[in-house]
This record gives sequence, C-alpha cells and structure tokens, in this order.
Amino acid sequence: MLTDMDISQQAKLRPIGWIADDFGLGKHLWREAGHSMAKISLEAAKAPRRGKLVIVTAVTPTLFGEGKTVTTIGLTQGLHLLGHRACACIRQPSLGPVFGVKGGAAGGGYAQVVPMEAMNLHMTGDIHAVASAHNLAAAAIDARLFHETRLGKAAFEAKSGLKALNIDPEQILWRRSVDHNDRALRQIQVGLGDNNGPSHGSGFDITAASELMAILALCDDLNDMRSRIGRVILAMSLDGKAITAEDLGVAGAMTAILRDAIEPTLMQTLSGAPCLVHAGPFANIAHGNSSIIADRIALAHHDFVVTEGGFGSDMGFEKFCNIKTRASGIAPAAAVLVVTLRAVKANATAGDDNLAKLESGFANLRWHMQNVLGYGLPLVVAINRFPDDTEEELDWLKVRCLAEGAFGCEISEAFARGAEGAKALALAVARACDTNSNANANANTNGNANSKASFKPLYSDEMSFGAKLTTLAERYGASGVNLSGQARKDLALIESLGLDGLPLCIAKTPMSISHDPALKGAPGGFELPVVGLRLHAGAGFITVLTGKVMTMPGLGLNPGYLGIDINDKGEIVGLG
Ligand code: ADP
Ligand code: MG
Repeated sequence: MLTDMDISQQAKLRPIGWIADDFGLGKHLWREAGHSMAKISLEAAKAPRRGKLVIVTAVTPTLFGEGKTVTTIGLTQGLHLLGHRACACIRQPSLGPVFGVKGGAAGGGYAQVVPMEAMNLHMTGDIHAVASAHNLAAAAIDARLFHETRLGKAAFEAKSGLKALNIDPEQILWRRSVDHNDRALRQIQVGLGDNNGPSHGSGFDITAASELMAILALCDDLNDMRSRIGRVILAMSLDGKAITAEDLGVAGAMTAILRDAIEPTLMQTLSGAPCLVHAGPFANIAHGNSSIIADRIALAHHDFVVTEGGFGSDMGFEKFCNIKTRASGIAPAAAVLVVTLRAVKANATAGDDNLAKLESGFANLRWHMQNVLGYGLPLVVAINRFPDDTEEELDWLKVRCLAEGAFGCEISEAFARGAEGAKALALAVARACDTNSNANANANTNGNANSKASFKPLYSDEMSFGAKLTTLAERYGASGVNLSGQARKDLALIESLGLDGLPLCIAKTPMSISHDPALKGAPGGFELPVVGLRLHAGAGFITVLTGKVMTMPGLGLNPGYLGIDINDKGEIVGLG
C-alpha cells in the first residue's frame, strides 16, 4: 500500500500560478514562496463575500486523529468535482505532532494537501516567525528588568531616556515559545548566573499556544495585528499596573517580524483544488482554528469554503463558534461531524462485542451531535471509512445518526478514493448549506434568539465570567465548577484590569468531553476543576486551564522522529 508520502511525491502538481489564476487572484495579489506555494496579499480579502463557510469537527478522537483534515480536504475535492468553486482553509502543522505521535496534518491518502513534506516541515516559516516575535518580547522584558534593576530608576531614566516600568520579577506573565514537544522546558528558571538576572521562574509553551498565534488567526489586517500586539500584557509592575508590549516599546518590532506570516499560504489538494494554510493547531490549549483572513480571502472567491476546528466539537468547534465568529462576524452555514467506528468504540464504557461497544460509545457521538445542533447549524455526519470497517457496522451507525437529527449522514471514502469518495458527502453538505437561511449571514454574537440567523453562540458577550464558565462547564456535563486558589487570584487580577468580560478559551484534555481523559462516552456529574487563568488581552480572550492540562506537550517512548530521515537523493523519507 502506498504511504501518504508516496502518494504526495507521485502526484503531478499544477504550477501554483495556475491555482492562483483559478482562485481569481491577479498577479499583483500573490507571490511564490518555496516549492509550489504562494503567499497571498491581504488585498485579496477586500472583495465582497460570496461563499458559504462549512466547519468540520469530530467526535472525541483517539490519539491518532479521526480524519477531520482528510475529510476537510476530501470534501473540498468533492465539491470541486461537482463543479462548485470550493476552497479549504486549514492550519499549518506543528512540528510537535509531526515528530511526536500523530504525524503530519496535511490530510492523508488521496485527500491531501501537496507537497505534504513542504506543508508539514516549516511550510513558509509562519510558526517560527510567531515564535520569534514571541521570544523577542520575552527577551525585551527580561532585558528591561535587568537594566532597571542594575541602574536603579533615576539612573535608568537619565541614561536611557525611557520611563522606568518598575517590573515585578514575580509577575512576569509572558512565557517563552518553541514549536517542539519539549517537556523539559515546561518549567524553567531564567536569569541564572552572575549578572544575568534578576532570576525568575518561567516556562515554554508550544508556539501554537502563543497569544501571538491567536492574534494571527483572529486579526483583520496588519494594523489590527499591530494594535492587538500593543495590548498584549507581558508583566505587572510593582505598583500593580499591567505592562503591555506597547509600554515596553516592542509591539512594532514584533509586528514587523510577522509581516510575511500574516499572509496565508496557498497550496493545492491532490485534485488541484485550492487550500489556504494559515495559523496553528492545538485546539485543546489554544483556540486552534485557522485564520479569519484566510476565510475572508477564500469566501470572497469561492462558493464553498471548508475549514476545520481541532479535536472534538467540545474543543476547536466550540472555540470556532464562541471566539472566532465573534471576531469575524461570519456565521457558518453548516457543520460536518467526522466520526470513525474506532472512535465510537474507543468511547465505549461497556460492551464485549463490536456492536455492544458501538451502542455504548454512541453516547459520545450523540453528545457531539447535540452540541453542534445546539448552535443552530444543519449537521452532516461524515463516517470516515477505514479499510477494515464492516458494512454491517457502518450501516448501523448511519441509521443511528439519522435518527438523532442529523440533516445527512454519508460514508466518506475520501482517503481511499479522493474526490470521488467524497462526492456523496459533498452533495449532502451543499444541500445542508442551501437549507440554512443563515448562510452568508453575519454571526449573531449576542446570542439573540430573535435574530433571523439560526447560528447562535453558546453565551452572550454580556454574561459575567462566572456565568460563561458555568454555561460551558454544564455543556460538558459538569455539575459545577471548582476554582483553585491560583485561579481565584488570576480572576481577581483580570477583574482589577476590567477585562473579565472577554470570551473564554477552555484548555483541557481533548480525550474526553470532561477535563479527565479517563472519563469516556458522555460523562456527567463531575466537577470541572479550574487550576488557573491566563489573560490574553491582545487576542481578546481568557484561557481557562482545567484539570492536568499542559501548554507544552512531551515526546513519548516511540516518537515519530525515529523514522524520519533523508535518502541519498536528498529527499525526505518517513514523514507520516
Ligand atoms: P484529524 O484532522 O481529525 O486530527 P487527520 O485527517 O489528520 O485527523 O487523520 C489522522 C491520521 O489518520 C492521518 O495520518 C490520516 O492519514 C489517517 N487517516 C485518516 N482517515 C483515514 C482512513 N479513512 N483510512 C486510513 N487512514 C486514515
Ligand atoms: Mg486535522
């Protein structure tokens, strides 16, 4: 059997200029970047919106992923095959999973973005640019602390011509960032040794979880990015004031580093349909959606734009609905929920044989279906078929999904058969979009049920922090929320800054609807433990850390990097 990499390497790519032409982009709106990739000018977002946005989500996945990217790419290829103007908008893969357990994120089989090795390894360098801008701010705050401490306030001001910031070394809120699974960097002490301090505790987060990655995904344009970066809070002063990147004078330079990264990268699928790749993954600890800029560019030039929110519908999809649509004002027209027989079985809490396991694990799928339907969206379930799946089990699942209120349920064979294998799904999704009077409407972000739009976020802007959190926790099945001492302290600080009205970005395990990966199916009656809050004033949300969640993953016993190499022709081999 051919590997994903074999299929990608054997593919006959069309010149990227032809893809840009078909997209409808004049030569002044794109420039080549690397092999078979192009950076797209933000000017391309200025045309009026014509297309419908489809969001792809999933059941609670296994560690390997259940095929959202495969389905996103396959569905785009299927719509393209049916003669629609269709474009996919997905996120740049992180090197963490590429060298860790999961592997790449360019799709798989005959539903891939190509060349997959270019997409999976650095692409056009956007993630590294985010890390670099992030770490510039970290270096700048520590350097300022060093100089102000060494010279004292008066001498510092006299010699530098700058106003002292009086940074509290105990309250440097900005951590560092790198795009690897580096467990050893979760907690560090910086400023050690002679004359490098003051020393203080810190740590690294994977770059996808950087506030700057969220800003890249949520901003409107370079000016908006510049103002949002200016609002990022790096530390507190000794007299309790927030010190922003603007106060430190580093916001302009950070934005300058990101000037190319703000442009989405155009690539192609195996069937020659366009795909815009932008922003980063990790919907468990970040908001984990691709960028608003890419959606706008794609929607201005296509009838259908298919995008993906990471992990299950409790994670990336929830954040798509409650964070991304608030920033973009663009309501989706329909949702696709990807499910596999293996994920349903993996969510079983009882049952000995396959059908009994399916019956038990179906509780998880039912929860995700209800969750999506609760946002007022027509729902199409896509059963992503794996080679060993039996007809009997696939039929059973399809009947059950239709009985639960899905607009449609189709078996997707995009992995094995590309566009052809996703044709039935594409037809169902196009029909679902047509039924939705909301298609092309603006997002109703105030949760106003009287609006014409059927899409409705879970909570309104006006709700208090506590009410928003309880609403989300109850949706997960929790009977209550328990804020740790640290979380209460964090909340008091956020309240003192008057920023407690922002939307919430829940950081939790993606392996359960709850905060506890051991609770399978559709757990209920648990208490959601909130261990800390992180304020992201520039991105415009508060991250709520729950359970034992980590913002820096680690490598396991048999990481993916063991199989990756270059051959004697200088080609990359073993990328999964
Ligand atoms: P997600 O986006 O939901 O995390 P992906 O689309 O990246 O999942 O798929 C996860 C992995 O599973 C990839 O390596 C992909 O190639 C593989 N995969 C997905 N669908 C199938 C399928 N139908 N048959 C075989 N392998 C598949
Ligand atoms: Mg994916």
